[in-house]
Amino acid sequence: MTTMTKTEGAPAPTGPEGFLSVRDLQVTFSTEDGPVKAVDGLSFDVQRGRTLGIVGESGSGKSVTNLTILGLHNPQSTTIDGEILFDGKELITATEKELEKLRGNRIAMIFQDPLTALSPFYTVGRQIAEPFMKHTGASKKAAWERAVEMLAKVGIPNPRERASDYPHQFSGGMRQRAMIAMALVCDPDLLIADEPTTALDVTVQAQILDLLQDLQQEFGSAIVFITHDLGVIADTADDIMVMYAGRAVERGTTDQVLRSPQHPYTWGLLNSMPRLDSDLSAPLAPIPGSPPSLLNPPTGCRFHPRCTFQDRVGGNRCATERPQLDVGRASACHLTPEQKRTVFIEEIKPRLG
Ligand code: SF4
Repeated sequence: MTTMTKTEGAPAPTGPEGFLSVRDLQVTFSTEDGPVKAVDGLSFDVQRGRTLGIVGESGSGKSVTNLTILGLHNPQSTTIDGEILFDGKELITATEKELEKLRGNRIAMIFQDPLTALSPFYTVGRQIAEPFMKHTGASKKAAWERAVEMLAKVGIPNPRERASDYPHQFSGGMRQRAMIAMALVCDPDLLIADEPTTALDVTVQAQILDLLQDLQQEFGSAIVFITHDLGVIADTADDIMVMYAGRAVERGTTDQVLRSPQHPYTWGLLNSMPRLDSDLSAPLAPIPGSPPSLLNPPTGCRFHPRCTFQDRVGGNRCATERPQLDVGRASACHLTPEQKRTVFIEEIKPRLG
């Protein structure tokens, strides 16, 4: 395995009072075909100065969770239950006006595609300066200076000249940096990054991840980093939560999850990751099957139709009984702790190299 971890032995995200605390979150969409429970009973905490990586395939509920935190869901067709506490403030019941005050100011988001966040009609400098003016009341001149300073911070060469460019005059990597500058211009307390490096080549990807880490150290923000790729957050996240079909299935520090993963789905994710030290012609081992439809999700453990370990649990338990996720370092699986340890060491680890 080529993954390196950022923290070793740090506490798992257990505390009842994260800077961001999500408790038993349930998000249900009304569709023509019936209700879709995109998030089903999710709880997690993120502390200031720490990065939580949320990992899962598309449809796992990771992006829905974060759009819900930001209040960017469609209120007509979405039902939300549970609690989202941000620095002690309940966001689910917050008014649109209150959320608008938080977004772009105390809570910021970086998307996969900068073109969804940057308007083609305005200069990059103006788009960074505007939220700063809006939230701090700074003058146009001071906000422009701040935009130039932020472009310099994210590593754009000749930032004073480039601030007057339009997004199409920037390369993909530079646009991503500009979006990060825009997100961080008001020193947000919480940054949500949704697949921020997926569209970039490996070298630029590594630069952007380094940049996020440096900026976090400087600003002390809490970061929620959403990705389908465990490898991407190995160096970046302090803690990891693995999601499958709307539920969290494993949680722990990055070190715990990558060095001694406990859940068969996490084993599958690790096994399907390309490794630098392996023969590049060797085929990856994708997880068999595909994620379930949440219109009619599997009973019991939602991973059971794809899981090759359910016979070790015995009976029909995996298909009928929902495995719970305990607090702290935990995995939602009916295998015993001893089975999880043994299977990982004897059967999974040798395959990971
Ligand atoms: Fe597999 Fe059963 Fe564990 Fe689910 S509970 S991951 S089906 S062994």
